[in-house]
Amino acid sequence: MTTNEGHSAEPLRLLAVHAHPDDEASKGAAMMASYAASGVRVMVATCTGGERGGIQNPRMEGDAHSGRDMGGARRLEMARAAAILGIEHQWLGFTDSGLPEGDPLPPLPANCFALKPLEIAAAPLVRLVRRFRPHVIVSYDENGGYPHPDHIMAHKVAVEAFHAAGDPALYEGAGEPWEPQKLYYDLAFNPQRFRALHFALQDAGLASPYAERLAAWLEADTEGHTPPVSKHPTTTQVDCGEFFEKRDDALRAHATQVDPDGFFFAVSPDMQRKVWPWEDYSLVESRVPATTPENDLFTGLR
Ligand SMILES: [Zn+2]
Repeated sequence: MTTNEGHSAEPLRLLAVHAHPDDEASKGAAMMASYAASGVRVMVATCTGGERGGIQNPRMEGDAHSGRDMGGARRLEMARAAAILGIEHQWLGFTDSGLPEGDPLPPLPANCFALKPLEIAAAPLVRLVRRFRPHVIVSYDENGGYPHPDHIMAHKVAVEAFHAAGDPALYEGAGEPWEPQKLYYDLAFNPQRFRALHFALQDAGLASPYAERLAAWLEADTEGHTPPVSKHPTTTQVDCGEFFEKRDDALRAHATQVDPDGFFFAVSPDMQRKVWPWEDYSLVESRVPATTPENDLFTGLR
């Protein structure tokens, strides 16, 4: 390879910020596998070790390793998932906050990720952004996709890193400034997608696990919108149906967390490819001119 070719082959880079090991497999896995296969460098940053996760897969009840050391078991699961998706991976080193349950809710455990001051919580991610130099960052919206305290904190640190990593006056000592160009929120739980999958299952005479969820969404909508209008519109649909089997394999790699007979596998990859071959995103900030809708997170950057 000549120097010139080497320069022009400088790869595009995408960084996805997730709260726990397994979130990368349920939110954006096919998109990431697709970009990685096309030569984009894809990095997942996982904020916490998932130490407070319970066993979510009945087949793993009584598993010795996770019973003794859930964090350790999940590190192995994460390594398998990353290998399946063909991505790079970095732990940010914080402790899982757990999902508080009860009324009133119990306080969060001392020293957990969600209780960290923002500048402490965001520092490892700023350091990673300055080292990996992503053009695109993908994370959750301000509700965290769902209201787990670690997901909300993951959103906050992603937005902080997007804004601060390029500013030499901030996070001094955390590396050479680098300014990411586009910030997206993940829309994996896009109601339109579940609606389309639900009706496809019905048309095929199959049972739909989404009926209850859809009913709740439709009922919650008082404006007559069908489906309810999300606060963040879908701006970007990445066609990645070819990688749905890899997404399923990555999910199953998180064996303590994912029931192989559960919700995520209700619709076959073939039917999903026919009905909804995309993963959906909302472009929330761009430093390059961007016209939406678009079908590529790197529109304007290639
Ligand atoms: Zn999570």
